[in-house]
Amino acid sequence: MLAGVLGLTMDYQLTVSALLRRAETLHAAGEVVSRQPDGSIARTTYGAVAVRARKLAVALQHLGIARGDRVATFGWNHGEHLEAYFGVPAFGGVLHTLNVRLHADELAYIATHAGDRAVIVDAALLPALEAFRKRAPFEHVIVVGGEAPAGTIAYEELLAAADDTAFVEPELDEREAAACCYTSGTTGAPKGVLYSHRCLVLHTLSVATVDSLAIAEREVVLPVVPMFHANAWGLPYAAAMAGAKLVLPAARLDPASLLELLASERVTISAGVPTVYLALLQALDAAPGVHDLGALHTLVIGGSAAPPALIEGFQRRHGIAVLHAWGMTELSPIGTIGRVPAALAGASEAERFRYRARQGRPVPFVELRARGDDGLIPWDGSAYGELEVRGPTVSSAYTSGDGADNFTVDGWFSTGDIVTIDPDGTIEIQDRAKDLIKSGGEWISSVALENALMGHPAVAEAAVVAVADERWGERPLAVVVLRNGVTATADELRAHLEAGFARWWLPDEVVFADAIPKTATGKFKKTALRDLYRRP
Ligand code: ADP
Repeated sequence: MLAGVLGLTMDYQLTVSALLRRAETLHAAGEVVSRQPDGSIARTTYGAVAVRARKLAVALQHLGIARGDRVATFGWNHGEHLEAYFGVPAFGGVLHTLNVRLHADELAYIATHAGDRAVIVDAALLPALEAFRKRAPFEHVIVVGGEAPAGTIAYEELLAAADDTAFVEPELDEREAAACCYTSGTTGAPKGVLYSHRCLVLHTLSVATVDSLAIAEREVVLPVVPMFHANAWGLPYAAAMAGAKLVLPAARLDPASLLELLASERVTISAGVPTVYLALLQALDAAPGVHDLGALHTLVIGGSAAPPALIEGFQRRHGIAVLHAWGMTELSPIGTIGRVPAALAGASEAERFRYRARQGRPVPFVELRARGDDGLIPWDGSAYGELEVRGPTVSSAYTSGDGADNFTVDGWFSTGDIVTIDPDGTIEIQDRAKDLIKSGGEWISSVALENALMGHPAVAEAAVVAVADERWGERPLAVVVLRNGVTATADELRAHLEAGFARWWLPDEVVFADAIPKTATGKFKKTALRDLYRRP
């Protein structure tokens, strides 16, 4: 029973299709630019994307995919992926963006757990798909670009046969699922995060606002962050809503290709993890003036802490502002943005740089608090606590129902990040409670590596910790205690790991020790190990 008086406003459903309708009716000529596998550039418009998204919806329905079914993508950032971003949710399907960098075993698990009935895959990624395809539930493999081998469907043929005018938009409830992503677990299997239409629309609105990422029609947006990472931070939807030109780099993420694209398309805002921009800054410093980046005013950097040298380097030497952002897959993903508050307008440059190195204040509708040993911490900039958040863009549970301890009884989500909070709500990430290593924006599970190492006959105990790395942010280091009377070399142990993990997961360094420090409850004391093996 409603205690108050019902408002007289429309029960308009906040759906991804509403974003597309807006893009199509108001920004039909808005440009979408994609790098092609051969390096050339393909140009299309939001108007054309809308038509093709509807064709995709019709075609998928013809294949028997129904409302609520999962459709996976396995691809880089390009126009066809954007069509799937809109076309799959349009008929009530759930877009599941598979991370192409994961190991085949993990992909098999995730695709099976999600129950992906079809997959839309880049032709260039077919060999990677083949490594887990038989262990995944895909009934249809739809190939974008290149040849479609026997047993697969060519994306272009599928669309050519579909009539977009036959598309009947179902009356979706905004609370229905539109997209899904898996996030690495500290222990155990990856966990499924399921975004509702309403969540994606509210996230789009909140990140587009002026004090957030300020996505306006006049901007040219290049998400380097892959479209398989948490909705590419919401940028494709925000650009479409605003009618901003969208530039998609596909797999060409090396500094030379990115610089060329940033300059030639007159990009104004780009976004991605620190590793990408560290390489870009080096390339820019090495050859100043070669590329005209005069249009580029903002780099949104997040996923891992943006080092102060990166923020200052871009600003001082190239006049490009870095907006530091913090987020999580469970937050759709943007949580906070380090836009310098008006109160610091008159502050010294050094103070403003110190501010930008923090993770910033929450975007609209994200509420935060942090919990220390004695309850919620004061917002005094010095007390430490685990960050908890709530809001309409924050997960309320994982699809498998596990990870329940990440949700508090009073309805907040525990992030596993240890923060201080300033009186104005600015957070600074101080540490991470979760046992994960973030290398170049991608997770490595220390627990999975430890378990595998301890499966080697020569190993008595193994602990894996993150060590700071200039290029990748963090890299894994393994501390190994060998069994009495047996030997093994670092190379032998790495070879042992190679069978089960992607190459970039393998610890760069394996240190042999006599013992591993333990906590009172017998767990590895990771904090002590991190201090012990801290690299300069
Ligand atoms: P995403 O796909 O956005 O990287 P994940 O869920 O994979 O999201 O990772 C989220 C985690 O990454 C956070 O809980 C935090 O530990 C780390 N992280 C994200 N952004 C930052 C940042 N700006 N500074 C420090 N750590 C960050």
